[in-house]
Amino acid sequence: MTTGSRIGLLGGTFDPIHLGHLAAARAADRVLRFDRLLFIPSNAPPHRPDSPRASGYHRLRMTALAVAGVPGWEASDVELARGGASYTFDTLTALGELEPASQFFFITGADAFAEIASWRRYPELLELAHFVVIARTGTSFDRIRARLPQLAVRMVACDVGSPSACLAAPFPSIFLINADTPDVSSTDVRRRAAAGEPLAGLVPDAVAGYIAEHQLYA
Ligand code: ATP
Ligand code: MG
Repeated sequence: MTTGSRIGLLGGTFDPIHLGHLAAARAADRVLRFDRLLFIPSNAPPHRPDSPRASGYHRLRMTALAVAGVPGWEASDVELARGGASYTFDTLTALGELEPASQFFFITGADAFAEIASWRRYPELLELAHFVVIARTGTSFDRIRARLPQLAVRMVACDVGSPSACLAAPFPSIFLINADTPDVSSTDVRRRAAAGEPLAGLVPDAVAGYIAEHQLYA
């Protein structure tokens, strides 16, 4: 890895990765101009009662298919290779040790960020990276501000059209990006796949093909 890079990170179960994830990543990338953007499938997501339906191997392969061909975007096995519960604090610590000169930007949807106070090593984990919160249907930024008043001082609203306020913000900030991402969820994709419905318009074609070929959610 090069030193001093701006590195975006999008963590998730990616069971499977879908067009909402890609739109969220694209919005963050457009505003914050990353040198690299890593998509990190979790091994065992700490906040879920059930294990992911697809194996880590399949979730990583689908993630790699979804980002193939986009310059700077990569699927990362850092959490799958570490094993155990996938805590963002551990991931940010490990990446920071590998690349102390780089700046990290951890991207989440608004629904995920609304629960940040329950994440392991909150609030210290907010010192390890900028956080980038992307609008998601069902969770407004007003709700996030109301739930997390103690974080209001470091929240910066950014517009996809005029990113200058965000590019100038101090470290560590919490960027709120009001992008219009498609209202897709992995839960819905799994349900449709199980029902034999088409997945066009929800996941990249290569991912739809992979799900069909391996009968992942049948
Ligand atoms: P599931 O339905 O299984 O929970 P999901 O669609 O929420 O799946 P995750 O893997 O849980 O996908 O999400 C990973 C990250 O991507 C989270 O931070 C989540 O908020 C964000 N995200 C997922 N879908 C969208 C979307 N449509 N718009 C914006 N952010 C999204
Ligand atoms: Mg989710």
